Amino acid sequence: MSKVIDLTGKRFGKLVVVGRETNWPANGTFWKCQCDCGTSRIVNGWKLRTGETVSCGCSRRKKARDRAMNPNSKFRKMSLEKMNQDSVDGTRLKQLSMRVSQHSSKYKGVSFHKSSGMWTACIKFQQHKRHLGTFSTEQEAAAAYITEAKRLFDPVLIANGREPLSTERYFKEGY
Ligand SMILES: [Zn+2]
Repeated sequence: MSKVIDLTGKRFGKLVVVGRETNWPANGTFWKCQCDCGTSRIVNGWKLRTGETVSCGCSRRKKARDRAMNPNSKFRKMSLEKMNQDSVDGTRLKQLSMRVSQHSSKYKGVSFHKSSGMWTACIKFQQHKRHLGTFSTEQEAAAAYITEAKRLFDPVLIANGREPLSTERYFKEGY
């Protein structure tokens, strides 16, 4: 077993390590960090040491924004073109297609299959889509989604200082 070097108190770019995060659902050594902007974030120790992660994400977002705003930047043209490709009348095509795929249910991750007359639930986590089953009612499919969503997302949300998912809100608003 390799020895873990304590990074507590060390600074990596805009991040200061607060302490070790042992309860993290991924392989590797993770550290609780506080960003200069005030956001806390859990970061892989390896990414800290190699300099891959130097902020909570605010540096990267600012860099992208500066790049898009700088008229002399070759990236400005590229990012504008990319934005135009992806949008019609200012509407992002990606978001449209997301709405279409969820069109048959007000609940996230739930869709109706006309051919079978059944409801299905799917969840996407870390780029992987998982099928959660087929159900005779929309509410059952929604319940399957929220159960899995809470299991997968809540630890990540809590570790990053956010509110866990609320079942009540999900059922009332369908997200
Ligand atoms: Zn930040």
